[in-house]
Amino acid sequence: MSDTFTALMIEDEGGKPKAAFKQITIADLPDHDVLVEVAFSTLNYKDGLAVSGKGRIARKLPMVAGIDIAGTVVESRSDKWKAGDKVVLNGWGLSETEWGGYTRFQRVKPEWLIRLPDAFSLQDAMAIGTAGYTAALCVDALEAWGTIAADQREVLVTGAAGGVGSTAIALLAKRGYKVTAATGRPETHDYLTKLGATAFVDRATLSEKGGPLQKERWAGAVDSVGSTTLANVLSQTVYGGAVAACGLAGGADLPATVLPHILRSVALLGVDSVMAPIAKREKAWERLARDLDREALSSITRVEPMSRLPELANEILAGQVRGRVVIEIG
Ligand code: NDP
Repeated sequence: MSDTFTALMIEDEGGKPKAAFKQITIADLPDHDVLVEVAFSTLNYKDGLAVSGKGRIARKLPMVAGIDIAGTVVESRSDKWKAGDKVVLNGWGLSETEWGGYTRFQRVKPEWLIRLPDAFSLQDAMAIGTAGYTAALCVDALEAWGTIAADQREVLVTGAAGGVGSTAIALLAKRGYKVTAATGRPETHDYLTKLGATAFVDRATLSEKGGPLQKERWAGAVDSVGSTTLANVLSQTVYGGAVAACGLAGGADLPATVLPHILRSVALLGVDSVMAPIAKREKAWERLARDLDREALSSITRVEPMSRLPELANEILAGQVRGRVVIEIG
């Protein structure tokens, strides 16, 4: 175990969060029960906000950024885990209140970890990461609501070429739903078609304010954009349909009316990945192991070194990242 290792820390600089690579030691880590050697982390939208300093993600400083971890247990004071176990961690306040994954070693709580599913390598698990696991939570929520299974009408995915969107398309298509992708990047149509999208909507058509009850089109939707887009999607959802909302890439507001809900029984299903209970997480990861084929996963993924995180953070916030970015820790 090397004495010092590199971590991407968010520190206070004149009252503002600022990211910098620092050398730290095991003794600097929080006193949690399981020491994990991190092999890979990922880049999610929230990581972009944290690393660029454009969002106040860390609620205490200094903070190691990175909301995802895939690695191997080195030491454990908990009976639940032993040295050599391969583990995955998504969320649980990492990068907000707890030190995160952009570091060679991290100490974490035993109850935050799930066992790496047999279907995946550590790198695969981070190709999925929080974005992919959130996409699975969204599909779980839509299926639990019940109406998309019975309905042959289209299921819409917004923010389609992003991390959540790409994975949601692959998962929905694998289950046989007719998937329409809303994207602002026509150059990604071939990529999205390979993942299973069969029709496209220009995202600009959803970002202008429309009427409260528009023509019914979507049996269901996975929305990672929020704001006017989500309001329009709700207004275009069929009677009894549901929208799983998990993101705010287009804004945190929701300029909508109650009309789709009270006149069409449309459900707005909120999806949070950070504090989701273990049973939901395990179900989502089972779906990913069953329905996400390896070819789709590798087509949405690129691997980047930790040293590129500052540039990559700006890219994801500018909507320039396609699919998922795995961060190789080292
Ligand atoms: P990405 O940046 O990979 O994807 C977001 C996509 O949204 C972009 O690729 C783009 O898609 C679209 N988009 C970006 N800006 C706008 C805009 N101004 N108007 C309309 N569409 C836009 O991010 P992730 O997939 O990692 O995350 C997506 C969202 O989900 C984020 O808001 C993130 O915070 C949230 N999230 C929430 C979680 C939860 O627990 N609730 C967990 C994970 C993510 P395109 O280029 O195709 O148009």
